[in-house]
Amino acid sequence: MYPTSLRFLPLFLSPRMTAFSVSVYPDTSFDTDTMERDYLAAAVAALPTSFRELTLRVNAAGLGNDELKKEVLHMIRRCGQTLTHLEIDVELPAVTVHRAMRLPNLRTWKVHRSSPPATFSPSSETTTHLPALRSLALSATNAYDWAVFLASSYPTVDGVRSTLTELNLSDNYAVTPTLIAQICVFKNLTRLDAGYSCPKHECAFTLADDDLSRLSLALPRLEWLMLGRQCDKNTCRTTFRSLLFLSARCPKLAFISIHFNTIQIAQDIKSLFETEDSGVKELRDSPTRCHIGTFSVYRTPLFLEGLEELDVVKRGFSNVFPRLREIARRCGRTWQSLTEVLRKGKGLY
Ligand SMILES: [Zn+2]
Repeated sequence: MYPTSLRFLPLFLSPRMTAFSVSVYPDTSFDTDTMERDYLAAAVAALPTSFRELTLRVNAAGLGNDELKKEVLHMIRRCGQTLTHLEIDVELPAVTVHRAMRLPNLRTWKVHRSSPPATFSPSSETTTHLPALRSLALSATNAYDWAVFLASSYPTVDGVRSTLTELNLSDNYAVTPTLIAQICVFKNLTRLDAGYSCPKHECAFTLADDDLSRLSLALPRLEWLMLGRQCDKNTCRTTFRSLLFLSARCPKLAFISIHFNTIQIAQDIKSLFETEDSGVKELRDSPTRCHIGTFSVYRTPLFLEGLEELDVVKRGFSNVFPRLREIARRCGRTWQSLTEVLRKGKGLY
């Protein structure tokens, strides 16, 4: 809605309401000095005590005022036993963040701007934090700090390392090896979303095969892995080897999007299937593979020299993704040729 519609919010409030979701669009003609924005704080103040789900996307419209922050804290205190979902794109004070972390039934939390606590008070030392959290979304500005905080040795946040199953870091360019190393502590993740598109002038993907190897070892339950849309620069350090790590160690994967370099993909695949490296040998000879039927390469370029290289690449994909029948792409005739030969039959190494 637009800010001028906020005055109608009281008409929709009911004592039996369990979910409240408001997104306010920026409106340049809107005067933030008017009392319109107080309608929002008043609506939050009127939410019933059995309330469960709150979504407020209002910061872009300049509505994150002190009155709203105060009412959010009161609401968290009032509805503490029943709240299961929180999404507020306003930077909340430390006291509210502390309080939210002690909600016993909070299952999903989208932390758009707020930072993790710098310290815990002595009275918090024995309280288990985020005991029911399953899904956490962080933004580009706070993802690293939160990941470090939750992966740290605070005993009261220990539990979240095994309860968290979904982590969303989308629009975060800085998915660095250091951040990935922190994420590896959330050992039961089934969904990791760090989706972004690289800037036009350069590739922002900084991970290497070793990082994907560590990730695949640490998160064997992954079902959905989004590490950004592939651009056309072909400068990344990950290779086809990362695809083998993921498919062989995370057999439940149904979706993968990662960069991999294709400049010498045929040679990469040959060396992968000829190497005597015991770790790689064990994976390539094991029958365990994920069930991906469609693999997205988006803008990844692919140039192959002749039918022999095409055959090598086909055999590589057939081995790593035995159920693959479709390669989703934005461009590239060679990918089309590869899809056609994959459909005709399997090649086995
Ligand atoms: Zn890129």
